[in-house]
Amino acid sequence: MTEQVAIRLLGGVDEVGGNSVLLEDFTYDVKLFLDFGIKIGNFYECYERGQHPSCIEELVDLNLIPNEDSIPINNLYTREFENAKVRAKAIKNAQTPAEKHMIDQNYPSNLDAILISHSHKDHYFGLSFVNRTIPLCTGEVTKKIIMASCKSAKFSLDNNFEGLNWHTFRTGDILHFKDMRIVPFHVDHSIPAAYGFIVYSSAGPIVYTGDFRMHGPLSHMTRDFLNEIKTNKVCLSISDLPQEQKSLISEGVKVLICEGTHIQKGMVESEENVESDLTRIFESNPFDFILVKYDRVDWDRFRTFSHIANKYGWKYIITEKDAYFYYLLNKGAIHETMMDPNILEDDHIYILKRGSIRYKWQEKIRQIIYKRGKADRFLEYRDLKSLEGKFLIYITHLHNTLMNNLDFARRGLFISSSIDPYSEEFFDNTQTIRRELEPYGIPAYRVHASGHATPHDIINLIEEVKPKFLIPIHTEHPKFFRTLFQGTNIQVILPIKNKAFEI
Ligand SMILES: [Zn+2]
Repeated sequence: MTEQVAIRLLGGVDEVGGNSVLLEDFTYDVKLFLDFGIKIGNFYECYERGQHPSCIEELVDLNLIPNEDSIPINNLYTREFENAKVRAKAIKNAQTPAEKHMIDQNYPSNLDAILISHSHKDHYFGLSFVNRTIPLCTGEVTKKIIMASCKSAKFSLDNNFEGLNWHTFRTGDILHFKDMRIVPFHVDHSIPAAYGFIVYSSAGPIVYTGDFRMHGPLSHMTRDFLNEIKTNKVCLSISDLPQEQKSLISEGVKVLICEGTHIQKGMVESEENVESDLTRIFESNPFDFILVKYDRVDWDRFRTFSHIANKYGWKYIITEKDAYFYYLLNKGAIHETMMDPNILEDDHIYILKRGSIRYKWQEKIRQIIYKRGKADRFLEYRDLKSLEGKFLIYITHLHNTLMNNLDFARRGLFISSSIDPYSEEFFDNTQTIRRELEPYGIPAYRVHASGHATPHDIINLIEEVKPKFLIPIHTEHPKFFRTLFQGTNIQVILPIKNKAFEI
């Protein structure tokens, strides 16, 4: 029998993050990527903060993105930076000129699409470099977050998301690629708008979980996804679905590509507990200011801290860059939850100005806030020392401007609220921060709930899905899955990077 489908993991193998899965369906003649991430830790081992790649070949040589020569995809990457003049102009203008994106049209790719599960960089960062003609399918809010993050940072080769061939979806949509259908479905994770995918291939349903958890405020979404995997309601609602696809569906899930970040070690925790744990601190709070650290894109966490600050009459201080990023997420929000916190309306949120305008995001957020008549919500760093009342301040790292302007005669606390250091630009510097703050008499707490499922939730999900083959991804412990499912009808395939698993 000839193989119908090949699944090739190009990242996320024996490692947390950097997911990129190449799926080829030979019968339907479809090639696509599920996620196109870069392992952030690896990226920052090669490039220090403020350093950027100079060309795409460099990234390929450093093994940060797939080498086209070793996969059956051509013209995967954009040619827009091959022309040095164009590149210089783009960097000088801090934007990408529209005409430049026309270049890729002369180099069409045989890749049908790239699907992104959610907007953590270890799942999407490689998009900066892809051919602008390749259809890119993401959730609507996913696109919003990626573009907000792009617009609140300087242009560089690795922060270049303009001109992409976006197609956005929502839960319940059906994506078509020739005869292949794909159903994107929401899951709960530490970022808004995370999706899993059910790919109806010619070899049967293939499920890709992306990142998920069962203990967040939207855990019902992960349950909805599980329910959809079991019932295939969306796909079966297609009136002219061919009989052969119906019978493939009735045979059950062929392959489950499942995340396993915490398969070997979990914590029983929940986002609700983060709020109640913080409440316990605030109810008998001897501190005057609190430095907090979490992933900027973790909207639930931002909301939790903002609620606590507001409830106890504390100021909540963020930078201009963060304020502009959150403002862009608020703007035209589709879901009500994305309006809370609200950068324009929430007067307990203060914005730290830093010097005169150097960047676009500074100019924009200043204009917006001034126009609203809320200039009193701007603070300078030097105001921190004499600031009346208590305040929380959001940090990603400690820098001199901050340290020189904090009044250490007042009592401070550091709360680390991120221990999923895989997804964003800042690798885990919690320990460094804690040590630096010790001489100032600032104790450290950890208050957190992970974005990733616990071992028991992962096992239960797999047992309910009952796939024929299980491929662990986004885990340092794929063998754990083999041990867990030995003697069952579920065959665990240990992925080998760049090697196709064929069915
Ligand atoms: Zn993630």
